[in-house]
Amino acid sequence: MTLNQLTAHEAINLIKKKRITAYEIMQDIFSQIDKVDNLIKAFLVINREEALKQAKEIDKKVKNGEKLPPLAGVAVAIKDIIATRGTETTCGSKILKGFIPPYNATVINRLREAGAIIIGKTNMDEFAMGSSTENSAFGPTYNPWDLERVPGGSSGGSSAAVAADETFVALGTDTGGSIRQPASLCGMVGLKPTYGRVSRYGLVAYASSLDQIGPIAKDVTDCALVMKVISGHDNMDSTSVNLEVPDYLKSCQEGIKDLKVGVPKEYFIEGIDPEVKGALDKALKIFEKLGAKIEEVSLPHTEYSLPTYYLIATAEASSNLARYDGVQYGYRAEEYEDLSSMYQKTRSEGFGSEVKRRIMLGTYALSSGYYDAYYLKAQKVRTLIKEDFDKVFNKYDILITPTSPTPAFKLNEKVSDPLTMYLSDIYTIPINLAGIPAISLNCGYSKSNLPIGLQIIGKHFSEETILRAAFNFEQNNDVEKKKPSIKPAKHKEAKK
Ligand code: GLN
Repeated sequence: MTLNQLTAHEAINLIKKKRITAYEIMQDIFSQIDKVDNLIKAFLVINREEALKQAKEIDKKVKNGEKLPPLAGVAVAIKDIIATRGTETTCGSKILKGFIPPYNATVINRLREAGAIIIGKTNMDEFAMGSSTENSAFGPTYNPWDLERVPGGSSGGSSAAVAADETFVALGTDTGGSIRQPASLCGMVGLKPTYGRVSRYGLVAYASSLDQIGPIAKDVTDCALVMKVISGHDNMDSTSVNLEVPDYLKSCQEGIKDLKVGVPKEYFIEGIDPEVKGALDKALKIFEKLGAKIEEVSLPHTEYSLPTYYLIATAEASSNLARYDGVQYGYRAEEYEDLSSMYQKTRSEGFGSEVKRRIMLGTYALSSGYYDAYYLKAQKVRTLIKEDFDKVFNKYDILITPTSPTPAFKLNEKVSDPLTMYLSDIYTIPINLAGIPAISLNCGYSKSNLPIGLQIIGKHFSEETILRAAFNFEQNNDVEKKKPSIKPAKHKEAKK
């Protein structure tokens, strides 16, 4: 076994005990990246030199007997939508090619202060719009479990990197499922925090009222460790909430006998893969065995989530993306006649087709005469969806659902049909509309050896409870945990 295959908490303990050094870990991390990333294409930028230098600094601290910060020596990969000072941040878009932020996002500063080592930036759907990472201007990322399949999206680079042991943990962002769905499709653990729990300062905005940053990790413990570091109030983000951050790891140690679990009937609709349904039924039995009380519940407005999301998210995106005009950031068209043709050409050449589709949809929904019919109405339905959750959470502590209706799908399977692609997030989108937290973790594998994910949803600011439920399940799940074998796709091998 090489050191990159450890979990973050295992690595931290071994460094503390002086059994291994942070430098040795980094060497194994980068040799794995060298070995597999030409197949997976999870990374857009790799910070090798800087990372090795930081590892040496950690080792010096160990040698001098200094107290180590909580994530000392932990390799972290960052979705390329989070600003990193001095390192290119493209959001997977040609329009931001060459953009080097002059400042760090708050989460980056917090990770660095905690001793984490930022090893690189990961691929993503352009501006986080997508569910497969096929919308990146820099080419797709491939799922380590089957290189002919997508890793999910939009944080597909982050989840594939963790699954392929190219990093210990990664940060993703989730506007409608982009942490949980790729975590599910890659067999990892991913948490979307409550809106306001983690600072969005330095996160390039897609849909500001829905976006949250969160961790993708190999297990629940690592997820809890990273959450503790990145959470908490930040003066730079007026929507970040001033609430104490609990010790997530400690609460994981408690059982779940006290938990009342709701299973929303609207989530078991036509289109759900029978293997996903089967894995979920088995998982629910384990929760029952652990003493949780499980009952069916109803979230009656679920069917309106998708249209509501695609009105609100596109409206906010059309406004947020107006700033990419060739003047302030990144790309500018080479040939143009006057100012307005410069804007037009820059945006036509710089944005990909999914981003353009959404800017057009959003601009339409916000235009005068249509605002009340679409945007305002969507906001009202959003309130109804949130109230559905408020009602069930009066009686239940958590909800359990699948994360994605199917395991990983093939590349090109859904690109030509945006509506089918949008359905990939049917179970994750309502959670962002309500602003509540949810975690996805592996609960089994399909017959063709693809991971299947389970989603645990909680009340506002109940990350402690969903992490505890997830940890108890992880410890008692009788499906043996597997690692992907990362075999080149058959047809590609044949071509060689
Ligand atoms: N797939 C959804 C979308 O394309 C969600 C993306 C996200 O969470 N960033 O909007």
